[in-house]
Amino acid sequence: MPTKAQTNPALKAANRRMCLAIENDARETARWTGRGVISPSVMAQMAGVPRHRFMGFADSDPAATGAYANRAQPIAQRQTISQPFIVAVMTDLLDLEPDDRVLEVGTGCGYQTAILAGLSAEVYSVERIPVLSAEAARNLEALDISNAFLRIGDGFDGWPEHAPYDAIIVTAAPRTAPPALLDQLAPGGRLVVPVGEADGSQMLQRFVRRADGETTVAGLLPVAFVPMIGDVAT
Ligand code: SAH
Repeated sequence: MPTKAQTNPALKAANRRMCLAIENDARETARWTGRGVISPSVMAQMAGVPRHRFMGFADSDPAATGAYANRAQPIAQRQTISQPFIVAVMTDLLDLEPDDRVLEVGTGCGYQTAILAGLSAEVYSVERIPVLSAEAARNLEALDISNAFLRIGDGFDGWPEHAPYDAIIVTAAPRTAPPALLDQLAPGGRLVVPVGEADGSQMLQRFVRRADGETTVAGLLPVAFVPMIGDVAT
C-alpha cells in the first residue's frame, strides 16, 4: 500500500515535527521498550498517513495542523485517537512483514488501522461502537485503503473467522490479556496490549507465541488507554 504524501506545506511541516517528536520519545523510552529507533518502514507510515483526516479536518482547514501534536486527542463517543508515539512504538513492536495478517482491537477512527494496513497484507479490526466503526470505514475508503476489514463486535472474542494472526494489537486496556486473543496468535505471532486498570495505570505488554507453542511475555512501558469494555454498544 503506497503512503499518501502530504501536499499542504503547513501539514507537511506539522507532520515532520510529529515525526521528530516520535523519534525523540523513542530514544527517551528505549530502556523500557528496547526500541530506541523506530524502524524506517513504520516511520514512513507515520510520515505518510494524513492524521488530520481521521479527526475530521479537511486539508485546507488551518486548524488541521493541531492533529499532529504528539498526544492523544478526543474523538467522538468519549473515545480517543492514540498518541502518535504510542501508535509508532506499538506498531514497531509488532515486527510486521508485508505478508502478515493483523488483528486490531479498538478501531476508533481508524488511524492505527491505516498505519497497519500500509505495513501488512490484511488488517482485521474490531470496534464495539458502531458509529466509530462507520466513521473509520469512511476515513479508510477516502484514502483508498482496501486491505483493512472492519467489524462491529466485542474484541474480547477476537475475530476467529480469520485467525490465526501474525500480529494482534489492542488499543484499549483490558485488566489481563484476553485468552481468545492469545489463542488466535499464529506460531511466531506477536500480541501487543496495554494491560491494567481503567484509571489509566497500565503496562504495555508484548506476548510472543513461539514456534514450539510456548508463549513469552514482557512488560514494556507504562501507558494510559481508554478501558476495554465487553459487549457491543448500542
Ligand atoms: N486505534 C485507535 C484508538 C481508539 S481508542 C486509534 O488509532 O486512535 C480505543 C477504542 O477501543 C475505542 O474506540 C473503544 O470504543 C474501543 N473498544 C473498547 N473496548 C472494546 C472491545 N471490547 N471491543 C472492541 N473495541 C473496543
